[in-house]
Amino acid sequence: MSAFVYKALRYSGVAWIWRETVQRGRVTFLLFHDMELCDAERNFSYLKKHYHIISLKQYVDAVRNQSVLPKKAVVVTFDDGHVSNYKLLPIIKKLNVPVTVFLCSSIVGTRRHFWFRHSEVVKHKVESLKQLSTEERLRVLQTMGFIQAKEYDDRQALSSKEIEEMKTVVDFQSHTCFHPILPQCDDTTAREEIVSSKLQLESLFGLDIYALSYPNGDYSDRDIKLAKEAGYQCGITVDSGYNNRSSDLFRLKRFSVNDAKSITELMVKASGIYALIKHKLHKPSYGYKPSRA
Ligand SMILES: [Zn+2]
Repeated sequence: MSAFVYKALRYSGVAWIWRETVQRGRVTFLLFHDMELCDAERNFSYLKKHYHIISLKQYVDAVRNQSVLPKKAVVVTFDDGHVSNYKLLPIIKKLNVPVTVFLCSSIVGTRRHFWFRHSEVVKHKVESLKQLSTEERLRVLQTMGFIQAKEYDDRQALSSKEIEEMKTVVDFQSHTCFHPILPQCDDTTAREEIVSSKLQLESLFGLDIYALSYPNGDYSDRDIKLAKEAGYQCGITVDSGYNNRSSDLFRLKRFSVNDAKSITELMVKASGIYALIKHKLHKPSYGYKPSRA
């Protein structure tokens, strides 16, 4: 069904017209996760050809200084710090693509697992777990054999050595410590996740951490406040839409490309039109949540 929609939006010319008109004067943030090397070369080449890829820092500085940004500006981001991201390093260097990778600071450099990718957990309904309080989620996960601090045989996240090698060309930023659903955390845990991840990444890798990507795109006013207090300069959501120089830096919008497997899928998703239509029809379950307090 999705493949049909991608083709319809591409070959009707709608995605092209959208890209060259609506999208032209705006800044589009794209979200990838676990893209394979062959897809990365094709996808990055397409983006370079049809957009002006800028770094996240360049965008944040332009908002803060009200300086000019190029037309059809795109910011390329990856969430989580998946082990496969290391394989993309040669292509990132070859094509000279500015990329920001958001790391879970207590998972990278270890053999701990991302809770939503642990083999026993993915057999169950991951989505329903996101609705639970963090305490309850961890309790249920334990019954599925997942323990947050446990190191497993296989590695899911980037190693310290890989981060050290990549950090000369990749902008690493924070995606909390353990990838909780922030609005489902109590105040102490939310603060710990937001503050400690920044401190850990700075002390472990000597990074300048100025950006937070809210795990699963879920955030509340409380989480924005904590991010500001912790010294972040911006917070990135997965809310559908574009950004510009007057955007709220702690509610930056982003389109999930989901590691597009074809040019048609990438063209349609990168234009933003696919998510805008989809979310108009069905409001996504993730996103902004009113604060508990
Ligand atoms: Zn994530």
